[in-house]
Amino acid sequence: TPFIRFENITKKYGNFTAVSNLSLDIYEREFFSLLGPSGCGKTTLMRMLAGFEEPTEGRILLQGQDISGVPPYRRPTNMMFQSYALFPHMTVEKNIAFGLEQDRLSKGEIEARVQEMLKLVKLEEFARRKPGQLSGGQRQRVALARSLAKRPKVLLLDEPLGALDRKLREETQFELMDIQHTLGLTFLIVTHDQEEAMTVSDRIAVMDKGVIVQVATPAEIYEAP
Ligand code: ADP
Ligand code: ADP
Repeated sequence: TPFIRFENITKKYGNFTAVSNLSLDIYEREFFSLLGPSGCGKTTLMRMLAGFEEPTEGRILLQGQDISGVPPYRRPTNMMFQSYALFPHMTVEKNIAFGLEQDRLSKGEIEARVQEMLKLVKLEEFARRKPGQLSGGQRQRVALARSLAKRPKVLLLDEPLGALDRKLREETQFELMDIQHTLGLTFLIVTHDQEEAMTVSDRIAVMDKGVIVQVATPAEIYEAP
């Protein structure tokens, strides 16, 4: 069975159809991209998987289980927010710990996970700094650490690298691939940048106007006539 199955999903906002009878399977440990122009429904699809929106029609299965009505915090998904959503008054380690405190994990467990995450994103020496004292790339890594600390099975990234300059974007792409591989997680990323999708993904769903026009590996897209 696929890890994630979108089954005949339609999402309407009033009379407007943002996603139209869309079906898609994503497998465990895939680095999967939704690629397409602004407004084609990528974020809407991701938000339905995260549980922030419910489909108008169709259903989403996770490991074969229908997850409709399951609230976001009970889903094995976590959406990484852009780095500007970090708490500016909190240190890096407090930012990473915040969601874990909300989940009422023990102090020891929180401390262990924060250390593990700081190591993973190579920010051990910056634990006591605040976001304003970090570079853009470092802030991005804190946002990533904060999401991963909750140990999701599926990490959702909505245009994660959009705010970074080209060089930093390329570096961060490889860091993301490395981390995904190390942790053995499923990554679902939304992007309008074809080059980025081609670099990071195992497979890509190309979307347009609420439908998928192609699902392919980067190699298949290169070889297309
Ligand atoms: P993308 O992520 O591909 O840029 P979105 O999924 O954000 O596209 O949006 C798809 C379409 O649905 C857009 O036309 C957008 O304006 C519309 N849309 C998204 N959310 C809402 C909403 N809450 N209410 C009305 N329209 C929405
Ligand atoms: P992004 O650029 O990341 O796709 P947007 O600015 O399109 O984000 O959307 C931000 C929020 O506003 C989302 O929650 C989305 O559902 C909502 N939204 C987007 N388009 C509309 C719309 N036309 N009407 C109402 N809400 C919308």
